[in-house]
Amino acid sequence: MWDAIVVGGGLAGCIAGIRAAQRGKKVLIVTEGVGTLYNFSGIFDYGDVERLREVPKHPYTLFDSQAIAQGQNFVQEICPEYVVNEKRQFAFTVLGTVRQGDLMPSSMVLPDRQEQGEFVLLVPEGLKDFFPETVVANMAREFPGWLVSAEKIQVEALAAWTRLGKNVSSIDYAAIWRSKEGQKVLANKIEELNRQRQVAGKSPRKVVVVLPSLVKEYYDASRTKPYGNEWSLPVLEMSSFVPSPHGRYFAEYLKHRVTDWGGEVMIGARVLALNGELTSGSKARECQELIVQSMGKSLSLRGRKIILATGGLLGGGIKVGMERKSIREGVLDLPLFVPQEWSKPQFFAAQPFAQIGVETDQFMRPLDPASGQVVWDNVHVIGRMLAHWDPWTQKCGGGVSVTSGYAAAELI
Ligand SMILES: Cc1cc2nc3c(=O)[nH]c(=O)nc-3n(C[C@H](O)[C@H](O)[C@H](O)COP(=O)(O)OP(=O)(O)OC[C@H]3O[C@@H](n4cnc5c(N)ncnc54)[C@H](O)[C@@H]3O)c2cc1C
Repeated sequence: MWDAIVVGGGLAGCIAGIRAAQRGKKVLIVTEGVGTLYNFSGIFDYGDVERLREVPKHPYTLFDSQAIAQGQNFVQEICPEYVVNEKRQFAFTVLGTVRQGDLMPSSMVLPDRQEQGEFVLLVPEGLKDFFPETVVANMAREFPGWLVSAEKIQVEALAAWTRLGKNVSSIDYAAIWRSKEGQKVLANKIEELNRQRQVAGKSPRKVVVVLPSLVKEYYDASRTKPYGNEWSLPVLEMSSFVPSPHGRYFAEYLKHRVTDWGGEVMIGARVLALNGELTSGSKARECQELIVQSMGKSLSLRGRKIILATGGLLGGGIKVGMERKSIREGVLDLPLFVPQEWSKPQFFAAQPFAQIGVETDQFMRPLDPASGQVVWDNVHVIGRMLAHWDPWTQKCGGGVSVTSGYAAAELI
């Protein structure tokens, strides 16, 4: 019998799995895919936590400030390059605009605008969906007083693709920068830029190289960080856009961290249902068995605790049919909070459907909204499946997932 089975291997499920394994629990993550992790920009958004804790039923109201801080510290423990700044910190997006972020790798944090430096944007040859003129113009607007220029960089391994007219994705380039060949090209280019500026005798200005598709954080399967050597100029990462190299490496990294601590991960497996019985003296049921579909076979698994981390509408945890009443939670058919009005006509408005999810008690056990009763005793719901929040307008996607995932692991 597992101490806990986590259903879903997105951000919330992985954080729960890593923390449970670190606590010495026998834990298994069963997941169909990686959920929205491959879209992760590299930056954790927490939002205005204190204000959101005042919003009725928001998931942050389930946790005190200490629990929220514990989750954040845990991210820094497993990703040591991630930094938090009390005064707000910013990173470049791939458009050259500036984005705030609550927890981000130190190699993304923008310098102080007052410093009056120089940015050199390295433009990887043939990089798909990257528009250097726009990026340079945006960077110059964001940092008035800084010099901004662009320089091409080419890697032989990908040059043949560009000669054939094939675009190279940011995922391809991220892999190249992590390879020996890519690192050599990068080091030579940066050294050349440094030398040019020294010869020109220009530089009381600080020179910062900016490179899209660079992912410095997260070691790989061989447990080594890809970048050993420091470069002769500081190099800034840009936050990712889909397809996100940060999301891709981060997803792999999280899986390694689960197994590093002795946890197990079953990928490509779909939990079809949980079976359980009413517990004596209670109206709640206790889950005794999970039915899992994997490689065409059905398995039965048993766990003392079940952590439901199947995501929301986008993660696959909530199923929607053609009719409004056909919306359902996909594993346990848990009662869902569904707002009266689903959507607003204004595209950028807070959309009511974002609030769809499962209501819980303070231990994240699912409730029947009509009666307020706990419906499953040993099931805890985390991440995007929780009701009453909106990662887009409240900018707290990573924060809610990390906080609830960490807190659930403490309950095992
Ligand atoms: C495009 C996009 C970009 C985002 N970027 C950021 C960002 O940069 N920073 C930030 O802080 N937040 C970001 N967010 C928000 C944040 O990623 C989400 O809040 C968070 O990922 C939700 O995590 P989750 O683990 O709850 O769900 P998900 O990531 O959706 O994971 C759900 C998991 O459950 C699995 N699953 C579903 N059903 C089953 C089943 N029956 N059996 C087995 N497995 C199942 C899925 O395969 C998946 O692995 C972004 C969200 C989106 C959609």
